[in-house]
Amino acid sequence: MERPCAWKKYTPQQIEELEELCHGYKQFLSENKTERLCVKTGIKMAEEAGYVDLETVIAEGRDLKAGDKVYAANHGKDLMLVNLGTAPLEQGFNILGAHVDSPRLDLKQNPAFEAGDMAYLDTHYYGGVKSYHWVASPLALVGVICKKDGTTVDINIGDKADDPVFTISDLLIHLSSEQMSKPAKDAVDAEILDVIVGGRPVKFDEDDKDAPKEPVKQMFLDILKEQYDVEEEDFLSAEIEVVPAGPARDMGLDRSMILGYGHDDRVCAYPSMLAQINVADVERTSITLIVDKEEIGSVGATGMTSRFFENTVAEIMTLVGEDSPLALRRALACSRMLSSDVSAGFDPGYAGKFETKNAAFMGRGLCFNKYTGSRGKGGSNDADAEYVALVRDIMDEAGVDFQTCELGRVNAGGGGTIAYIMAKYGMNVIDSGVAVLSMHALWEVANKADIYEAYRGYKAFLERA
Ligand SMILES: [Zn+2]
Repeated sequence: MERPCAWKKYTPQQIEELEELCHGYKQFLSENKTERLCVKTGIKMAEEAGYVDLETVIAEGRDLKAGDKVYAANHGKDLMLVNLGTAPLEQGFNILGAHVDSPRLDLKQNPAFEAGDMAYLDTHYYGGVKSYHWVASPLALVGVICKKDGTTVDINIGDKADDPVFTISDLLIHLSSEQMSKPAKDAVDAEILDVIVGGRPVKFDEDDKDAPKEPVKQMFLDILKEQYDVEEEDFLSAEIEVVPAGPARDMGLDRSMILGYGHDDRVCAYPSMLAQINVADVERTSITLIVDKEEIGSVGATGMTSRFFENTVAEIMTLVGEDSPLALRRALACSRMLSSDVSAGFDPGYAGKFETKNAAFMGRGLCFNKYTGSRGKGGSNDADAEYVALVRDIMDEAGVDFQTCELGRVNAGGGGTIAYIMAKYGMNVIDSGVAVLSMHALWEVANKADIYEAYRGYKAFLERA
């Protein structure tokens, strides 16, 4: 049983829709390289579609009813969009979930130093990265610096056409005989992933006893002070992410793919948010959940394991007058979810790592993983066959191209998602998403047909599940 390539069925009008969706997605991907920016833009998209901040509703003492649309943000890094349906909430919700944190390098708290007449910023990697990917490539600095006076300074340098960029140097091939004989995991020590940010000293008098000991670093700090009004000490309370510089772009002469940073998992988050705001009146309340910290185990106040989701559901149920603890438990248990994350696209160069009957092929549509995990499905949410049947039926009824897949060959490796966390409530959850090549590399590849089918599949799920 082989699933068809989605491209074959498209009408000219569908191709037009696909291109419009992917144009918006490329822009989203290019302009939102941190979880904070994704949430900020998500809020903007929601407000433009008539969603109201839940905090405002609570502050004004208003009730909620069917047809109302609200959003809730959590520490600026999670976002929940809710479109209230006509059915009682205790009958459960149709939920889309995806994460917006991506693998990257974070600046350390005390990052600045000078060496070899150059200024550097030291980093600590976030999520699963191959260190050797990060050298000799243009990089941008994106994030926030929070000052003691309560103000926050936004930093975003390296993406605009006339911005300077940054880089991490690599050892020249001529001196690499020892390095090239090491296993790939040891070829570039993660501790030397230091970003070069300057190469020019401040001017000073050699005889001046107060002359700066690190004049190149001083120049960097002086410019920072002048342009952003921040001191070196302000890095103590900053979250600056080192990310690949440059926009997402069409890939292939046929422009069938998109090369971009952070497809994992914005390629699921963006179509989910778009499906949510484009679905108008629903019977079962629809929710789209955008979360942080998936790449480091979904922990912390902004990870899926925090109570943000449950607390927000409790607030909403109170505002619609279904405020008993039992109604909340019932609502959670009766919910249905597509937990979306990227799948491993079949890569012919590494065919031996896949089992082709159960691999995700680029361009064959939305992926469903009944289970994930490793070493015998360990750590996986294994969706019920009954639920898989329901999801299959919804996709077929809506004419959505989908494929079922596993991450790779049995025992080749493995991975986890946020599915098992939501499954704790007893709700039906299945892993779904878009296949990518070069997952967790600086530039990942996704096929436009898969992004389009994901959007269509998410919309069908919210309307019909
Ligand atoms: Zn992911």
